[in-house]
Amino acid sequence: MIKISYFCSMQDRIDELPQLAKDKHIENKKFFAKLKKRPPKKLDQIMQDLHDQEFGETDCLQCANCCKTTGPLFTDKDVVRISKFLKIKPKRFEEQYLRTDEDNDLVLQQTPCTFLGVDNYCGIYEVRPKACREYPHTDRKKFQQITNITLKNVAICPAAYAIVEKMKARLTL
Ligand code: SF4
Ligand code: SF4
Repeated sequence: MIKISYFCSMQDRIDELPQLAKDKHIENKKFFAKLKKRPPKKLDQIMQDLHDQEFGETDCLQCANCCKTTGPLFTDKDVVRISKFLKIKPKRFEEQYLRTDEDNDLVLQQTPCTFLGVDNYCGIYEVRPKACREYPHTDRKKFQQITNITLKNVAICPAAYAIVEKMKARLTL
């Protein structure tokens, strides 16, 4: 089993993440099943603390793996807000950048995201989709309700992976 090293570069962490997540998949699944059955009373506060601590140490600008490998869903409000920012009509924005996926959700036509710059800055940061603002959702209230998506996110987001590892060390379920 590979062990994650916090002294390696961000790119090394990103590269080893899929295998690490695969190694932990069954353990995480069992842990989340217990979490759903009996969520601790202070879970919201615990998740907020773990999230704040991890993102205090993680520089997303060194990473951008979410923007490079998986796109957000766009709500109608996102489309209106972003098209206004780009000074184009919502319909034109949809035609140019989005497509409807198999679940009938509006998603990006391509990844890496068109709005991601070479410096990892987001070109529409102030008006970015709600899903981008909230990713990887580790500070979500009632975190036990989003464990299925978290099982996937630990293979994409090094911070989410670290948060789940710290959760398992902190919580006795
Ligand atoms: S949210 Fe996660 S995947 Fe996205 S840039 Fe930050 S650390 Fe990387
Ligand atoms: S809109 Fe911005 S934050 Fe969202 S995926 Fe694209 S580059 Fe990343």
